[in-house]
Amino acid sequence: MERFYTALNRFDAYLVLHRLQHAGIPARVFNEHAQSIVGDVPPDVAQPQVWLEDSRDRPRAENELRAMQTERTRTGSRWCRSCNEENPANFELCWKCGASL
Ligand SMILES: [Zn+2]
Repeated sequence: MERFYTALNRFDAYLVLHRLQHAGIPARVFNEHAQSIVGDVPPDVAQPQVWLEDSRDRPRAENELRAMQTERTRTGSRWCRSCNEENPANFELCWKCGASL
């Protein structure tokens, strides 16, 4: 096991976890319930962390993380005017109803 990523919050930790799992990299989230004790312990200890089960996966995991961060800077969300579904900002058409965004 090797610590790979210290997340800002649980949501962030799971985004990274799912990305890694999707790429076939075994990983786990630790400290996911630690938010409540922030303030009592150093933030680095209290924040959720993503750990790699096999440290040899680290180069691949770092590639995934970098790709994720690149995608995140260019995406946000926008809402479809016809069905109100949330879509990533880089979508041209609503994934649900096909209306132009
Ligand atoms: Zn729509």
